[in-house]
Amino acid sequence: MPRTLSIASPILRVALPSPLRRLFDYLPAASAPACGWQPGLRVRVPLGRREVIGVVMELAEKSELPQAQLRAVSEALDDAPLPADWRWLCRFTARYYQHSLGDTLANAMPARLRQGHPMAGRTQTLWQRSPTSPAEPNFGRATRQAELWALLGQHPHGMPGRAISAHGFSHDTLTRLAQKGLIESREITLTAPASPSGHLLASPALPLNREQAAVLAALHEKLDGFHPCLIEGVTGSGKTEVYLQLIEAVATKGKQSLVLVPEIGLTPQTLARFRRRFNVPVLALHSGLTDPERLDVWEAATSGRALIIIGTRSAIFTPLANPGAIIVDEEHDGSYKQQDGLRYHARDLAVARAHHHQIPVVLGSATPSLESLQRGLDGTYRHLHLTQRASRHPPAKIELTDLRHQPRQGGLLPGAIKAIKHTLKAGKQVLVFINRRGFAPTLACHACGWIADCDACDARMTLHRHPPLLACHHCDSRRALPDACPDCGSGDLRALGAGTERTEETLQGLFPKTPVYRIDRDSTRRKDSFEQIIKDIQRGEPCLLVGTQMLAKGHHLPHVTLVVVINADGGLYAADFRALEHSAQLLEQVAGRAGRAADPGRVLVQTLHPDDPHLSQLAEHGYGALARHLLEERRIAQLPPFSFMALLRVESPQIDAATTLAQDAALYLHEWVNTQQSPVRCLGPVPAPMERRQNRYHLHIMLSADKRSQLHQAASVLVQWLEQSRDARRVRWSLDIDPQTLV
Ligand code: ADP
Ligand code: ZN
Ligand code: ZN
Repeated sequence: MPRTLSIASPILRVALPSPLRRLFDYLPAASAPACGWQPGLRVRVPLGRREVIGVVMELAEKSELPQAQLRAVSEALDDAPLPADWRWLCRFTARYYQHSLGDTLANAMPARLRQGHPMAGRTQTLWQRSPTSPAEPNFGRATRQAELWALLGQHPHGMPGRAISAHGFSHDTLTRLAQKGLIESREITLTAPASPSGHLLASPALPLNREQAAVLAALHEKLDGFHPCLIEGVTGSGKTEVYLQLIEAVATKGKQSLVLVPEIGLTPQTLARFRRRFNVPVLALHSGLTDPERLDVWEAATSGRALIIIGTRSAIFTPLANPGAIIVDEEHDGSYKQQDGLRYHARDLAVARAHHHQIPVVLGSATPSLESLQRGLDGTYRHLHLTQRASRHPPAKIELTDLRHQPRQGGLLPGAIKAIKHTLKAGKQVLVFINRRGFAPTLACHACGWIADCDACDARMTLHRHPPLLACHHCDSRRALPDACPDCGSGDLRALGAGTERTEETLQGLFPKTPVYRIDRDSTRRKDSFEQIIKDIQRGEPCLLVGTQMLAKGHHLPHVTLVVVINADGGLYAADFRALEHSAQLLEQVAGRAGRAADPGRVLVQTLHPDDPHLSQLAEHGYGALARHLLEERRIAQLPPFSFMALLRVESPQIDAATTLAQDAALYLHEWVNTQQSPVRCLGPVPAPMERRQNRYHLHIMLSADKRSQLHQAASVLVQWLEQSRDARRVRWSLDIDPQTLV
């Protein structure tokens, strides 16, 4: 409970952006903020010889430190506490992921707040022509000034300084005009646009089909309580339309909806679809925003003015004044899990948050994670189904084709090339999916067997042609292409296997008159290039798309009728127990790109293991059937979601230092488990699957338990030991609760 303190000299317990899992005690500053000292206020405090920004979390009557050692807060930065729901979420997150609270708070607030800027009353400088200036001043040879003058003439209400510099004008030009008295500036206070009154909808909702209507009705039943739902709906079954109508119902009650989408899914098309529907602003949180814009969204959500907020992973930390519903689209997507620092899972936090607010949370996917699917099956979540595509065309079936003993061109079998020819002739588009960028997975010497390995990692270097070089995709190191084998001097160096560049080159050679678009991280480094390519593709001319998983998700590609998967075998026999689940999700999502509109689709999946039972099940019965089978396997093996895991990663440039710490930690944990008779299982230390990465050695200790509480207790004991261990200061370590990969 927030309470103001009336004690003579209270102690402020402050969370600071530090890895240490504790609060820091301070005395109040001489002048108190208008609201009095309260939890939730940002403060600037001295720490060593620096000043840092933290958040008051508690008020206490006394400190464990003697009064004389306590320093005072330099100043309070807020005149009201940061939102209580947000503080609750940060506390929950820090506790659940066993992370420092101060670091969690810093991660979860907009950069502007982290840097100490004020929360409200943000101002912007607008420039405009001054009313007293002559209509056509003479600029002589100062052409830039004349151009800026002309530009401001087009903006009679003023232009922000940022927009002016975006037009390429220097600050100097601006001040020259101001000194001549031709232009002037004024300050305005920024607020997010208020909701217009009147109709909520800008365009009418679609009439729902029977299945959609049933799902929406189920959601409507319980809008006023915690109501976790899993929508398992095939690709193109109209999940988004259901979300839109749920948001409408929530907004009608004046409540806010928070929509999470995968990193790759927040495209201008998605946003446009939401914005077309509603008359109220749809605020988007994505990587393209400037820091002040991000703060705007935060402020609008905090005040309750923004009714619809859509964003990627970190948007889960947006405060909501009137929370009404949380929606997680493509809930299985890997981008919801942060893979460094604060390793949270936005989907799991969404469920926790909805429970705290007592509101519905909707998880939607064509390929639900086994965690969510199990909760749907066992009744923890309400399990809703969409089995038909909105277009009524059934998703294309997967056809497995045998890669063994067959010639390939650019990774493609003769049968696939024939099917491509056929599809292009029919005026349609083809998507070739290959999960590897670059020209070829590696370069090898045909004379002696030398292979291009990375110097810093236990990995091979990928061969690139544009530009020509060897690159390690694990540490980003690069090397020039050798002219001859470094070991035996032979000139017979050959590219092994195919990547996107090689397949693109092959297809361009086979179909010289057809445009080939390559879509991977290399070809779309420029921000707008991806969007431009998607626009070109959607015009519908026959073309070939070669791409990595960037192409597999979210995009509506109505003219693609053939999908070819170069190699489906990546996840089949991997050491990571989730690899099969993840690769089946990816295959199903790729297959879902085919035949989205009127034309039926075909999906050719090339494999070295056409008889593999998992792959055959996916091809014949789809992801849903395979997922249920995998759940049975997980149950028997006592793996998540039937148990809970935490992974301790230890790394150091010195293998001895890493090994010593990992062994000591494991020993301590084993002893604790024995004396406590804890049912927690502890495995390791073992070398990570790629032990050497970026010249650092990586070791793992795996904890697992049947009950989450048991796991958390053991993990917290381990973290406490590591925090006080002297050796742990020289070795990097991190704890990953519910790890999504074992890399
Ligand atoms: P999902 O989110 O499940 O992939 P979408 O909501 O994107 O599916 O729907 C796929 C396509 O079907 C979209 O073009 C959408 O406009 C259309 N659609 C969805 N629901 C309906 C409906 N009830 N009537 C007509 N078209 C619909
Ligand atoms: Zn050689
Ligand atoms: Zn490397």
